[in-house]
Amino acid sequence: MIAQELIDKLNQMKTPFSIDSMIRTPIHNASVGGAPHSAHVSGQAADLIFDTGMDMVKAAYEALAIGFMGIEVDAGNQHLHVDVMGRVWHVWKAGNDEHPLEPWLAQFYPEFKPSTGG
Ligand SMILES: [Zn+2]
Repeated sequence: MIAQELIDKLNQMKTPFSIDSMIRTPIHNASVGGAPHSAHVSGQAADLIFDTGMDMVKAAYEALAIGFMGIEVDAGNQHLHVDVMGRVWHVWKAGNDEHPLEPWLAQFYPEFKPSTGG
């Protein structure tokens, strides 16, 4: 079952996207290397794909404004993971390295003021 909060937030995204992955069975989640308690298993996450890399950046910016708890820009796999699992986790990832999302977004949006806390 897909979390209503996830659907409501996805509906607020302005940048067009396709859904690459939403709900997964535990077995499928393991087969794609998902974390055991992945938000995908509980229907609280979606992986979004875009026509261009800049669309993905725009969408990550929107996702912050909309208030997604979990946001992961996966530069290697060219998708944006968003979730509503209840812990704040904003990163961009290159390979296995995770970096804070806000300073990365700030290079594309000079008017964007990254929060300094947590
Ligand atoms: Zn994901």
